[in-house]
Amino acid sequence: MHDFSTRASNPTGAMEAGYKALRPPLYDSVAFEFESSKDIQLAFEGRKSAFAYSRVSNPTVSEFENRIKDLSGSIGVLALSSGMAAISNTVLALAGAGTNGVIAKTLFGNSVSLFKETLGPWGFESRFVDITDMEAVESRIDKNTRFIFLEIISNPQMEVANIRKLVDIGNKYNVPVILDGTLTTPYIFNAKDAGVALEVISSTKYISGGATSTGGLILDYGNYDWKKIPGMEKWSKAYGPLALMVKLRREVYRNVGACLSPHNAWLQILGLETLSLRIDRSCENAMAISEWLNKNNKVKRVDYPGLKSNEFHTISAEQFGDKFGGILTFDLRDKETAYRFMDSLKLIRRATNLNDNKSLIIHPASTIFSEYSLEECEEMGVRETLIRLSVGIENYKDLLRDIEQALEEL
Ligand code: PLP
Repeated sequence: MHDFSTRASNPTGAMEAGYKALRPPLYDSVAFEFESSKDIQLAFEGRKSAFAYSRVSNPTVSEFENRIKDLSGSIGVLALSSGMAAISNTVLALAGAGTNGVIAKTLFGNSVSLFKETLGPWGFESRFVDITDMEAVESRIDKNTRFIFLEIISNPQMEVANIRKLVDIGNKYNVPVILDGTLTTPYIFNAKDAGVALEVISSTKYISGGATSTGGLILDYGNYDWKKIPGMEKWSKAYGPLALMVKLRREVYRNVGACLSPHNAWLQILGLETLSLRIDRSCENAMAISEWLNKNNKVKRVDYPGLKSNEFHTISAEQFGDKFGGILTFDLRDKETAYRFMDSLKLIRRATNLNDNKSLIIHPASTIFSEYSLEECEEMGVRETLIRLSVGIENYKDLLRDIEQALEEL
């Protein structure tokens, strides 16, 4: 099999296009016509595979899903309108009132809010734990636990848990591990080999090609037998390993309506072609900047798993090899100093989002986590002194010069 970068930039099984075009066509159509009434009935009953309506499936979106499937080794992929759509559809398909999830307490702010604020009132219990503490994880699992959920490198706490150990614990209790792999993508981390059941990804980030469009993905690695989840038996009986994918497509995804637009799928197919190049470059840049910041005495601490001194370096190197992602965080004296530093930057942009081609900087406590009190933020590891830098693909020397001049202002 060819290398990831070859398969991403020059896929062999790609969809056929007219005129021998080298780019896939963009089918920006809502509906598709059928030859007969019987054919449309069979398509709606799922007895004949066909595109009928783009909220459920679309040829360009399907081409994007197929390319992700090939690159990741997953057995099924669903593309959605955003990373949050991927997470919420997954949880809606597996959990309900009276059930719970064992969830990392270090997560992206909107994911915390989804679990607590949105799903809490529906009777779902979020059991937030220190996901790097295996005993704590195991102690929170019971017969109503539907999944273990974590981020591969938590945003913005930069924690890295041992995924294989979590999968072992999950297997002991028949609980699937759901991994948010946004910060690594299948290029850096092979979730299938680690035994992960489902990976959710915000393709808005690295995959889109540099913030071209929002999108999300759910990948099923075929590592979990879905009939072990109450309510999944009928889907399992009919569709075997694809039970969850079919339930999503035919019920949750279809009914919630957070589908990926064909246009965004087309943009993200282009993004995939250059994914490995952009990840390589941003990881190298993030490493160089972390090392530089780590030696500067105005910087209180730097968190980047690529640093040898980082507490998660050993497990990160085991899981990711020599690529540690394009996100790093660092702490300055206090919030005012952090703001002054950020306001002095000339090249790095003050903006939310991650893994753009441009470097972006943000103060998470006052933005992404602003719905939470200082105490709640501290509890989640989001300190007031913490700044998150998403490193782009510029020349790192220009980025360092920008950081250096802004630090001199302090
Ligand atoms: N997961 C992680 C780790 C994220 O950082 C984000 C967004 O920043 C999301 C999920 C949500 O993705 P989206 O903005 O595409 O909904």
